[in-house]
Amino acid sequence: MHEASIAMSILRIANSAMGDRKDAKVVRIEVAIGKLKAIEPEFLVQCFTALAKGTLCESAKLQPREVPVTVRCRSCSGMSEIQRFHFKCDFCSASDLEILSGRELKVEKIHAKPTLHK
Ligand SMILES: [Zn+2]
Repeated sequence: MHEASIAMSILRIANSAMGDRKDAKVVRIEVAIGKLKAIEPEFLVQCFTALAKGTLCESAKLQPREVPVTVRCRSCSGMSEIQRFHFKCDFCSASDLEILSGRELKVEKIHAKPTLHK
């Protein structure tokens, strides 16, 4: 349950960012997820929605943004995007690559709005 523990951390980050404000609620959370993390975005959203019940994030929409895996070749310095975990340079087929992106896992933005007092 990789996704469930990640959803839990996102929830913790969002709830603590809100502090003890009772006059606002989280409406949207944007997260960047590198493809190397092998996370299923839809499943992550499902886990998040289930865990968020009863918290300030209850009606928040989790929006995962997948970050492609990009690499720089150490032989020819070419930059390639890696598809399906085939770690090979597009230009010279070398496999000695420096990973530039794809390992991200972070909360990028938390959108909140005031709740109306009745
Ligand atoms: Zn190369």
